[in-house]
Amino acid sequence: MSATITYRKTRQGEWVACGPAAIVRPHQLIDVTRRDGTTRPERVVSVGRVFQAGGQDMVYGYLDRTRHGLPASRTAAMCDQCGERRAVTTASDMSGIPGQVCGICARSGGLSFA
Ligand SMILES: [Zn+2]
Repeated sequence: MSATITYRKTRQGEWVACGPAAIVRPHQLIDVTRRDGTTRPERVVSVGRVFQAGGQDMVYGYLDRTRHGLPASRTAAMCDQCGERRAVTTASDMSGIPGQVCGICARSGGLSFA
């Protein structure tokens, strides 16, 4: 049974963490696995409703996007893949969904917002 926590994008365009309810809990620091297999530490602010997936209790964890002391109004210029704020440009993934991506992520496989 895997305890991997992965990123999901909500209909509102917000990146959240998806993982076991026993691990993804408010105020916890978790390691979220990206599509390239690397992990990124994230602080869970709150969690959504518990749902069943693969026989496990899973939740969406809403992440702290206020780190680095930047106001929330500047999150539009943040890379959707890794949260980088430098050299961020608007791009579309293969489905044509627009998003923000930094130069590093654009070179390392591009976008997937699906
Ligand atoms: Zn990036």
